Amino acid sequence: MPETGAPSAALLGLLGLLVGSFLNVVIHRLPRMMELRWAAECAELQTETAPCAEELKTAEPYNLMVPRSRCPHCGHQIRWFENIPVLSYVALKGQCSQCATRIGARYPIIEVITALLFAWCGWNWGLGWEALAWCGFSASVLALACIDWDTTLLPDDITLPLLWAGLCAAGLRLTDTPLPDALWGAVAGYVSLWLVYWAFKLVTGKEGMGYGDFKLFAALGAWFGWQALIPVILMASLIGAVVGIAIKLKGRLREGGYVPFGPFLALAGLTSMVFGPSAILTAIGL
Ligand SMILES: [Zn+2]
Repeated sequence: MPETGAPSAALLGLLGLLVGSFLNVVIHRLPRMMELRWAAECAELQTETAPCAEELKTAEPYNLMVPRSRCPHCGHQIRWFENIPVLSYVALKGQCSQCATRIGARYPIIEVITALLFAWCGWNWGLGWEALAWCGFSASVLALACIDWDTTLLPDDITLPLLWAGLCAAGLRLTDTPLPDALWGAVAGYVSLWLVYWAFKLVTGKEGMGYGDFKLFAALGAWFGWQALIPVILMASLIGAVVGIAIKLKGRLREGGYVPFGPFLALAGLTSMVFGPSAILTAIGL
């Protein structure tokens, strides 16, 4: 019987700090890695004398492991003791140790959010596969939210494994979702947004969302079952509308007036994990 409560919460919270630190790397590097991959593919399709082809072949490897993290301002290589989650940020007073350039507060914030989510999983499920499955869910969804917010991309490298993991977790009974509900949740999640996308495109000629949104919604369907899809999409739309209007009023809308939908789907997913899919809607009386 896994032990629930404080010890499990503390242990998984610590793990969350480390995973959060890794998520910062993923959030920063994965979009750049995708760009490099696309550039390499384009270069391959073009003639071999394309100017960038040679350059790409000789380029330094760039992935989640190498190169070591550096200060973007002075190039100072971050040493291990400057890379301890949250503590280093506090000790360095949020500055590079060499050139005193400010380090974004987002790094420790993401570490803390990951730690809190992991701690909650430990508290709720105790140490065991269930908690670890939901920790994986939290980390993936958090990374997707940040990447989509920054770049309006939802990488297949995260959305598709998240979808498969949801189906496997249902099959292994790590979630409360029976496997058929998870399966139809994934299918209905994808197809419903795909239909909305095409209806919107045919009527307005614009693209309201991207294929990444379908995959993320399908993944949420796999984790929570088809019954959760309507509450989740309502919650995401509601939060999205509020945030979208707030950004517009502040005049901070980015070029093209585009607000990515993924972060709100992600937020709805995390809320569903903690409070249940329909809790927020019940709370506001829907
Ligand atoms: Zn520096």
